[in-house]
Amino acid sequence: MGIPAMVALGGALLKVKDGATLILDADSGVLRVAPDAPALEAAQTALAERQARKAAAQAAAHDPCVTKDGVRIEVFANTGSLNDALAALANGAEGSGLLRTEFLFLDRETPPDENEQARQYQAIASALEGKPLIIRTLDVGGDTAAPYLPIPAEENPALGLRGVRVSLWRPHLLKTQLRAILRVRPLGQCKIMVPMIASLDELRAVRAVLEEAKRELGVTERIELGVMIETPAAAVTADLLAAEADFLSIGTNDLTQYVLAMDRGNPELAARIDALHPAVLRMIDQTCKGAARHHRWVGVCGGLASDVVAIPILLGLGVTELSSTASIAPEVKARVRGLSLESCRGLAAQALDQASPEAVRALVKSFGA
Ligand code: PEP
Ligand code: MG
Repeated sequence: MGIPAMVALGGALLKVKDGATLILDADSGVLRVAPDAPALEAAQTALAERQARKAAAQAAAHDPCVTKDGVRIEVFANTGSLNDALAALANGAEGSGLLRTEFLFLDRETPPDENEQARQYQAIASALEGKPLIIRTLDVGGDTAAPYLPIPAEENPALGLRGVRVSLWRPHLLKTQLRAILRVRPLGQCKIMVPMIASLDELRAVRAVLEEAKRELGVTERIELGVMIETPAAAVTADLLAAEADFLSIGTNDLTQYVLAMDRGNPELAARIDALHPAVLRMIDQTCKGAARHHRWVGVCGGLASDVVAIPILLGLGVTELSSTASIAPEVKARVRGLSLESCRGLAAQALDQASPEAVRALVKSFGA
């Protein structure tokens, strides 16, 4: 929604007096209490500059997105509803790189049937006016279970039945969802993406269900089927996956949690779970190299795509599609236009050799374009 926010500040926050003047600098993760006059003035100047930058980016939101050296980068937006699709369009996004379909499945007693799903997907696809829509198959797990999906209690839901594992555990749900997606017109606008892939077998099993659904509906056209790279297993075997997947999209939220072994919802770890950790960047690097072997494109649909600081590194590693929060898309485009891929590559190589996410962020700060 474009509103600055910070979380997990700890108990010290409760000591702040009511009515105190605060500077909330969410970019740097700093909350200044009762700032002095020079600090306040500096913050106001920074705010004015930021607003001017945002306004300029918004004015150019619908212009094409190409780097200074002529490389085309696709800027998409993540969606989870029809309203999000409208926001994506208004902010100049060139499509949706991730439709989280959970909105249709949660908070209800029975799963949505094929007709209801087809209607909802069609409404979102139509709202995007023919632009690409990447629909992610249901991504629920033990912590988000619905009454009609009684996932047995698990000690570690993040490591349990979730994502594609649930789809293959209850294949009739997957089949219904795939059939609904295949009914959207024009055929081909929707691509399908599978979450939480850990091995090629899972992609093959989903493809088998997709082929069955296509046969049933008499669809003979190619429908793109891609994978999310969210587990270290998927990142290090990206070459194997890319041999059979049409595209790879990196879910940096989960990838970071699994690479660093840090729960993405744990407030004590919030300050340290940073997708710019060199270990995560090395996984992204490996993903891009694996995909390149089979000439597949790699996108990022996790939160890192909405972190403008990360963009030159992602492009330098070989990412060519960014699916961000809709409100950030104009700034993502503006940043891409100011970059040359050649220098991004140099920056990315250096980033991989840093010792910490802080060092990576410092390195980017000193990088021009
Ligand atoms: C991710 O894990 O980065 C992702 C895009 O999926 P979600 O945030 O829905 O888990
Ligand atoms: Mg995820």
